[in-house]
Parts: sequence; structure tokens; C-alpha cells
Amino acid sequence: MINNNEMFLLKLGEVVLKGLNRHAFEDKLVNNVRRRLKSCGSFQVYIRQSTIYVEPTTDNCDMEAAYAACRQVFGIVSVARAVPCAKTMEAIVETAKTYLADEFAAAKSFKVESKRADKSYPMNSIQISQAVGGDLAELFPDVAVDVHNPDLTVYVEIREKYAYVHAPALPGAGGLPVGMGGHAVSLLSGGLDSPVSSWMMARRGVELEMVHFVSPPYTSQQAQDKVLELAHLLTAYCGRMIVHIVPFTEIQEEIRKNCPEEYFTLIMRRFMMRLAEAVAKKAGAKALITGESLGQVASQTMMALGVTEDVTTMPVLRPLIGMDKVEIIRIAREIGTYETSILPYEDCCTVFTPRHPCTRPNLEDVRKAEAALDVDGLVAKALAGESWVRVKP
Ligand code: ATP
Ligand code: MG
Repeated sequence: MINNNEMFLLKLGEVVLKGLNRHAFEDKLVNNVRRRLKSCGSFQVYIRQSTIYVEPTTDNCDMEAAYAACRQVFGIVSVARAVPCAKTMEAIVETAKTYLADEFAAAKSFKVESKRADKSYPMNSIQISQAVGGDLAELFPDVAVDVHNPDLTVYVEIREKYAYVHAPALPGAGGLPVGMGGHAVSLLSGGLDSPVSSWMMARRGVELEMVHFVSPPYTSQQAQDKVLELAHLLTAYCGRMIVHIVPFTEIQEEIRKNCPEEYFTLIMRRFMMRLAEAVAKKAGAKALITGESLGQVASQTMMALGVTEDVTTMPVLRPLIGMDKVEIIRIAREIGTYETSILPYEDCCTVFTPRHPCTRPNLEDVRKAEAALDVDGLVAKALAGESWVRVKP
């Protein structure tokens, strides 16, 4: 580590509750952090006492990019930029004085909060805070001590080798490390919902593989590029992923030719499930993810959802099921997919939409209507036309 240089302290979230699996979780998390930092320079990353240390090993690291990247790693609840120093009061005060000079200049009041991960340290946290706070109050006579509502809180952590001084940490992405929650295939359209549903399951530790259905010439290359861009935006959180592109034109045309209009969307969605399940099985994935939300559109009523998932034996995860559109949009803005999602390109779902879709479908009726089609043949043909793209952060 470069002496006196800024580094990051990453606090673990639910990982600390994992009991016997804890080491597997911690290893996965450290690896995920390492992988995500590769593009930001050379860093040493290691874990001690439920804290991940991220230390630049050269002085040309992009610290801003690395900080942002750490805040997007699932499994981390907070990230602090900190400076290590010797575990003496003098060194701690000196470090706080220089490292937090700008913060002190902007504050009218401050307090010190200390933590002692090294329990053999001769002072307890209250004593440390009092000693450091007293000295800093003398050094910054214009900044009053206020332990209840200070403008600035100075954090002191006495850890194994060094003491660390930092301003308040910023929240991390939370959740569980990607890879610990299994592997699933997410149905990614160009809409607002499916990037959010994908992100939500990745936050629960699920490793994602995407499937996207295209219907050229009804859907454009731009629509497909938009979906790849959405996948790209998600890699900042999920790491690299494969996007399977599955041709859907013939299926849609056959449905239109042979099935009652009120069932167009439902039968189409059943094909999506079959194809996604086939992709998932080949990839070794154990569940499907969609952006469906109860009652949002005709194909998302309770009965319609039942008809849709009738064709798959895999769990269908629908993290948005109980969410309002405004909540979904808020998350889309937060994770940075909103602006791309609202670009106006046709999705295959909006091609051939029935004028009066059935909202209370009867499963047997839909099965019968679908029997007019060569289901297996159409599925096999679509799968034969599948291609894939590896999307990297
Ligand atoms: P979204 O905003 O995610 O497009 P939506 O509200 O428009 O969702 P639908 O178009 O009915 O709803 O799609 C429901 C779900 O089906 C989507 O959230 C997505 O998971 C999946 N889906 C829809 N179209 C496609 C597609 N072209 N490729 C892959 N998955 C799709
Ligand atoms: Mg859509």
C-alpha cells in the first residue's frame, strides 16, 4: 500500500449473517470486488473482520471510478473513503486535520465517532472520541463540538494494523454477492420493467443470463441495440453476462394466422416461457425472471399469469409483482436504465397487440387455441436461430 494514501473500507451487509456459509460468501464478494476494480487500476483487496479493504497499489489508479464501482457491488452496504495512519492519538489527529481539512472548513460543528475492531487497543471508543475530538476542537476553534447534530462526523476506526480516519460512508448497493443466489435467465425487453426486475434479482445474489426476443422486420436493429445497451448498463452491478437473441417473427406470424385474436398475447407469452426455459436448461440456470407486475397490462392479471407459466416447470421469479409503476420508475432512474428504456423503439410485444385482449383467460381454452400450432416445431426452429452476445462492463 502507498503510505498515507486514500483507500476504501467496504462494510458487508447480510453476508455477515450467513453462519457456516460465511466464508464462501466472503470469498465470492472479495472476488466480485476485485473483478469490478480491474478497469480502474491496480488494487489490493482483502477482508478482515467483516470489512473489505481496497488499497491502490500504484498512484495512477482512477479512485473516483473505483469508488463508484465499489458502491455498485452487491453485498456491500457502505463504502468509506479513508486514510490509514499509525494507531496513536497524534497520528490520528494529524491525519484528520489534513485529510478532512475541506470538510472542517465547510462545517460549523463536528463530532468524532470511534470504533475499535482491535479489542486489545488500550483505549475504548469513547475515550478515543474524546481525545481526538478535544485535539481537533483546539485545531479548529471555529468549528464547535456538537455530539447531537453535527455538520461533520469524523470517523476513527482502530483496526488490526492501522487506524483509519474518514468522513461519513456512502451507502453501497446492498443485497448479496452475485453468484451466491444461483443462476437464472432473465427475460429482457427494451421496456422499463425488465431491467429493474433483473437488477432486483441480481441484488439477491442471482447470476444472470439474458434472453431477448426479436421480430424483424417488425422490430428494428435499434431496438435490439437498445436492449444490449440496457444489459451493458446492468453489468456495472451484475458483472459480465450473456444475452441470447432469439428470433420470434415466425411464432408471432403463426399465432396471428391461426389463433383467436383475444389470445395473441397470452400464446405469445407462453412461447417466450418455453424458449426461455430451453435457454435456461442449456445454460444450467434454475429459474426464469420477468418484469411482470400484477394488473399492469391484460397479460399480467392473475389468471393470465397462470396461463403463461403453465408451460414451464421452472420457478418464475417476478420481483416487481407487487410494485407500482412509480416505484419501478424510481428504481430505473436510480440504477441508470430509465433514459435508455424510454427510447421509443418497438418491442415484439407491441407488434400484433389484440384490440380486446382476454383478461380472464381459461387455461383449457388457451391450450386448445394453441393446439392449432406446431408448438414443438416452432420452438425448435426459434432455438436453432438463437445467437448470443457477451456483454462486458
Ligand atoms: P417491460 O417494461 O419489461 O417491457 P412490460 O410492462 O412492457 O414490461 P410486457 O411487454 O407484457 O410488459 O412484458 C412482460 C415481461 O415479459 C417483460 O418484463 C419481460 O420480462 C418479458 N418480455 C417482454 N418482451 C420481451 C422481449 N422482447 N424479449 C424478452 N423478454 C420480453
Ligand atoms: Mg414491454
